[in-house]
Order: sequence, then structure tokens, then C-alpha cells
Amino acid sequence: DLDHIQDNVPYKELVPFAESIHSDRILRENNEKMRQEFTANVSHELKTPLTSISGYAELIETGIAKPEDVPGFAQKIHVEASRMIQLVNDILQLSSLDNASEAGSEPEMETVDLLTVAKDCVERQKLNARRAYISLNCLGESALVHGNRALLDELCQNLCDNAIRYNRPGGKVQITTACSRDGHCTLTVADNGIGIPKEAQSSVFERFYRVDKSRSKATGGTGLGLAIVKHIARIHNARIKLESQVDVGTTITVTFPTAN
Ligand code: ADP
Repeated sequence: DLDHIQDNVPYKELVPFAESIHSDRILRENNEKMRQEFTANVSHELKTPLTSISGYAELIETGIAKPEDVPGFAQKIHVEASRMIQLVNDILQLSSLDNASEAGSEPEMETVDLLTVAKDCVERQKLNARRAYISLNCLGESALVHGNRALLDELCQNLCDNAIRYNRPGGKVQITTACSRDGHCTLTVADNGIGIPKEAQSSVFERFYRVDKSRSKATGGTGLGLAIVKHIARIHNARIKLESQVDVGTTITVTFPTAN
């Protein structure tokens, strides 16, 4: 923009240029701030499990741990290492989505039936040990959208993981698909779990935001699941609606344009 500004340009005509330079700068500064915040968060999130892995390993190595404590410590090391693997996988997923959107590239798209996505998600959850005390159901109609199957699987999986994670023994999770006449298809994941307080509802899609950090960590959460869901929805031109009430439950509806 500076190239446009010449000595003989009247002041009034300079105003839009100055404004655009100013807003570009603010955008760059915001991006930089977000990047710094993200790096600080990632470092912190990785440091916690690493510190505990290192601590337990040292206790075993130096012989301070009694022989009967060793299996328990080894299990803690395993849990923390698994948490790190999950976190690194989520970070890589987000960064590949970020890179693709910055480059303006679209993932490979095909016609996908959300009902198949939902049914396969329920099948996969049968292998999830935490699911044992939660009943999981899938119902609805065929709902064809233009999408990337792997990303839609991930979107459904993340919503379903949360519906199970933030639930109680005996809780229910229902995945529903529907197609309306006005050209929209929906995938809805509803649970009757702990719910999300009103004041936190607008923040849960931010990276690393958690209502209850210890609960999220204890159940294998990384704080990135819904940020990934938001990204995947955006790629599919889909809208997300969150309805939740503490102690009643949470319903998340993702609305896609129907495939032509
Ligand atoms: P996490 O890995 O911590 O689950 P997410 O990004 O998936 O991270 O979710 C962010 C936070 O939103 C969670 O830590 C939790 O506090 C809240 N949350 C998400 N889904 C639900 C749900 N179905 N019921 C209650 N709380 C939820």
C-alpha cells in the first residue's frame, strides 16, 4: 500500500491506505500473538507428562522405588506417554488443517453419507473401555453431504468421545442424522452428561480451553478436540450449534449443505 502513497496525494485520499496498513498490522500482530500463545500452551502441556515420566523413571532407576511399587510406576509412565502421543497427534492434525487452509487447498471431497459415518463411529466406540457404562445409540436417515470421509469420521469421533468423557455411569449418548427439504443435513450428538456452564459455552471451541482441566486430563482429553471439530466444520461449510445445561446434558448439532 505504501507504493500508492505519493507526495502529491491529498490527505483525504491517504486515509483508506493508512487504515488498511493499520488493519494489516493488527492482523499480523494478532496472528503472531496467537502463535506465541499456542507454542506456550503446547510446551506447557508436553512438559507436565514429561516431568512425571522422568520422575517415575528416576525413582525406578535409582532403586528408591520399592519392588512392589515398580509395576504401578511403570503404568503411570505408560499413561503419561499415551497422553503425549494423543496430544502430538492432535497438534499434527490441527497444524495440517491450518497449513491446508493457509494454502487455500481443499482436502479430497466425495459424497459421504453421515449415517454411515455415525454408524461406524458407534462400532469403533465399542472398543472404548470408558464406554462400558454408557449406552450409545445411532439413529436417523441417510444424509448425503459433499465431504472428506476421514475428516468427517474425526469430527463425529471427537464429539462422541466428549459425550462419553463428560458423562456419568449409566449415561446415554445419541447420534442422529437427518436431512431436511431446505438443502441441509445434520449430524447431532446428544448426551445427558455433566453439561457446560453458560459462561464457558463460547470458549469450548478454543484451543486448550477446558471447563475442568483435571477431568479432561484424567479421561485422556487434550483440550484440542472441539478446536479440530470447528476446523473440520469450516472446511465443509458447516455450522455448529451448541446447546447445554449443567447436570442435564449437551447437544451439538453440525449442519451441512446437502450434496447436489
Ligand atoms: P478435551 O480434550 O478437554 O475434551 P475439547 O476441545 O474436546 O477438549 O473440549 C473442550 C472442553 O469442553 C472440555 O474440556 C470440556 O470441559 C467441555 N466439553 C466438551 N464436550 C462436552 C460435553 N459433551 N459435555 C460437557 N462438557 C464438554
